[in-house]
Amino acid sequence: MEQPFLKALPIIKTIENSGYEAYFVGGSVRDYLINRTVHDVDIATSAPPHVVQNLFKKTIPVGIEHGTILVRHGQESYEVTTFRIDGKYEDFRHPDEVTFVTDLKEDLARRDFTMNAIAMDQKGQIHDPFHGQADLKSGYIRTVGKAEERFYEDPLRMMRAVRFVSQLGFQLDDEIKNAMKQMANLLEHIAVERITVEIEKLFMGEYIMKALTHINETNIGRHLPIFRDDQSLIKKIKEYVQTPFQSIAEAITFFHILNPDHSIQKWIKSWKLSNKVLNSAKHLHQAYLTYQHEGIGNETVYVVGKHVLQEFAHLVNIVEKAEMVSVHRLEKIYEALPIRQREDLCLNGHDILALAKGRKPGPWVQELLLDMERQVVRGSLKNETSVLKEWVKKWITDENS
Ligand code: ATP
Ligand code: MG
Repeated sequence: MEQPFLKALPIIKTIENSGYEAYFVGGSVRDYLINRTVHDVDIATSAPPHVVQNLFKKTIPVGIEHGTILVRHGQESYEVTTFRIDGKYEDFRHPDEVTFVTDLKEDLARRDFTMNAIAMDQKGQIHDPFHGQADLKSGYIRTVGKAEERFYEDPLRMMRAVRFVSQLGFQLDDEIKNAMKQMANLLEHIAVERITVEIEKLFMGEYIMKALTHINETNIGRHLPIFRDDQSLIKKIKEYVQTPFQSIAEAITFFHILNPDHSIQKWIKSWKLSNKVLNSAKHLHQAYLTYQHEGIGNETVYVVGKHVLQEFAHLVNIVEKAEMVSVHRLEKIYEALPIRQREDLCLNGHDILALAKGRKPGPWVQELLLDMERQVVRGSLKNETSVLKEWVKKWITDENS
């Protein structure tokens, strides 16, 4: 067994030693079997939630009504979920009632796709009653049971299917495709936040092109915020995008550039994204506008800033449909910038007022600072106190004359 499973193994052993079963399940086992980086390691167990709570020192009952307890172990958190079968999904929300069970196979049967219904025990043995390994090998996404029934129970699974296409490059089997065509409209019942979680992963998936094709072919696009009112948008996106977006903020900035009728605010609101994403998208857009004016150079890179060089490079390259700029080139320009932020200027607002000899503070100070900043960034003015002082004096005289 390998990391990160080894690190979580003591949890499984503790549960097993007290007479219950426990397994690694879900995404971690799937990713491990296809040699992808394993992220969250989830555990399923026959032990009821209160037993899990009593077995470990630090637990948080994050979803106790669905049987999920968060167990803290070695600086990490692990979701430990009691085997369960889901009750009716009333109004397509989370099931109102779940029933805890003691048989692993019953728990695996409630899971969405065969590749996600594989368990691994403490010895590294695989338990795979729905032949997920065979589907992993042939690269097919198949539901556990009838696609129609499983999508009807929880329509979000349709979104999950296409986001797995985007991440893994797998095929959707015909049954899934047909069911999606018929049932895409049920996505209208799903809380937007749940859809957004999947969309975000989809836009950042390596096989995004393939996923977008499916979204078009299966009519899912007709039932997603904004895309539903702008049927040509996904086709247009497909003309540009060949590589995954670096972030959801980049994706939204690009959509806005592609069709300015949909503002960044509108995207954020329709998809119920956070203010953080809003601010990132606004910043990227500002950087893009600078690029349109100034091309790739000091000014643009200064506005972009160190942390989003990668997102910005990708954005420009897809908008221009050409390899216009590399991250490496942007980094080199960034490293050589005379200043990285306004605070790096050798003069500040106070200094300027002192030089202005009695002139009242006002918007002119900001104007002057902006002008000075621009010239220093461009390289046409040296960032040295004496040089800047002379320049300020001249600026003030010029303005007064
Ligand atoms: P990721 O690697 O992105 O986390 P994942 O498969 O682990 O992918 P999660 O959302 O973390 O996805 O869910 C963990 C597991 O729970 C899944 O592998 C699947 O077995 C089950 N699951 C999650 N969502 C659903 C759903 N809507 N219907 C049925 N089973 C689900
Ligand atoms: Mg997961």
